[in-house]
Amino acid sequence: AAERYYDENADLSVIQGTKVAVIGYGSQGHAHSLSLRDSGVEVRIGLKEGSASRDKAAAEGLEVGTPAEVSEWADLVVILAPDQIQADIYNSEIAPNLTPGNALLFAHGFNIRFDYIQPPEGVDVIMVAPKGPGHVVRREYVDGRGVPVLVAVEADASGKAWDLVLSYARGIGGLRAGGIKTTFTEETESDLFGEQTVLCGGTSHLVQYGFEVLTEAGYQPEIAYFEVLHELKLIVDLMVEGGIAKQRWSISDTAEYGDYVSGPRVITPDVKKNMEAVLADIQNGKFAERFMNDQKNGASEFKELRSKEETHPIESTGRELRKMFAWLKDSEDDYTEGTAA
Ligand code: NDP
Ligand code: MG
Ligand code: MG
Repeated sequence: AAERYYDENADLSVIQGTKVAVIGYGSQGHAHSLSLRDSGVEVRIGLKEGSASRDKAAAEGLEVGTPAEVSEWADLVVILAPDQIQADIYNSEIAPNLTPGNALLFAHGFNIRFDYIQPPEGVDVIMVAPKGPGHVVRREYVDGRGVPVLVAVEADASGKAWDLVLSYARGIGGLRAGGIKTTFTEETESDLFGEQTVLCGGTSHLVQYGFEVLTEAGYQPEIAYFEVLHELKLIVDLMVEGGIAKQRWSISDTAEYGDYVSGPRVITPDVKKNMEAVLADIQNGKFAERFMNDQKNGASEFKELRSKEETHPIESTGRELRKMFAWLKDSEDDYTEGTAA
């Protein structure tokens, strides 16, 4: 079984005695910064001059500087900008300000696993990867709970990297729920695999096909939307509560029998082979290279795919239907309907 850590395995005074620079103040950045401060840690935020996030961080009373300024000041630099720009920030602003004894912390192993960032000798390289979006990470901390985290040490130059990573994980509330020991390689490859094949890529395209088949057969789009998208949440909630077994226990016998006889007709052994091919391209770096090269070209493929997907008819159907759902209106995030294209 995986090795686990809880609050009693971590000494909060380690991170309380560390000057922490958090680069980026987005989903993870705001959550880590605010919770570390509440845990008694000295934190400064690194953002570009004129950055939109600067006002948000300043409004919370956090001290803000450029990534170079706060990196120069810090003992620990936490890189929480989007993965595709981390290497540029690192090379131009962070690396020149790292000295032996400093540490670098990531919330995802991408840039280390694929060598886009190559830290120098003498610097600890560690990871605390919360298994949830930043807004949930912060909300749970405030409510006295926490989101589970994955913790890893890539380089232990100081001999004390584990003390530091566990102390940080405790500081953001992660060890209230529990930390699981992993490596940068395992976290990066499994995270990319999960999001590409099941959570995001698999589910989105499964839902789109389901919607297309029903509407092309003449069923009303509103009805199709309910059957293949809206109810998905209810099913997934049951899976999260008690696994696939609880979901099957809760649904009707008709639905359960249909799962057993029709599921394997849709998700054939070919799908597993396809997943293995996706995993291979993650492991051999092809996916990372394609993503990063496109980003260097102004993300033209990415933007084109985003616009194309946004025009799928399930989106306009959903936009109209969701006006019926009063409980969705008070969602607290910054997402605005129909702005992705
Ligand atoms: P976001 O996209 O939310 O980060 C945006 C922030 O980065 C903004 O504050 C933005 O500032 C800032 N930023 C952009 N460019 C620069 C720059 N050149 N210099 C300094 N700051 C910059 O990132 P996430 O929180 O989604 O991801 C951060 C890390 O956490 C990633 O490694 C990700 O894989 C990982 N992670 C994310 C999870 C999530 O749920 N989102 C879950 C677990 C891990 P501005 O306002 O100027 O644009
Ligand atoms: Mg991911
Ligand atoms: Mg039904």
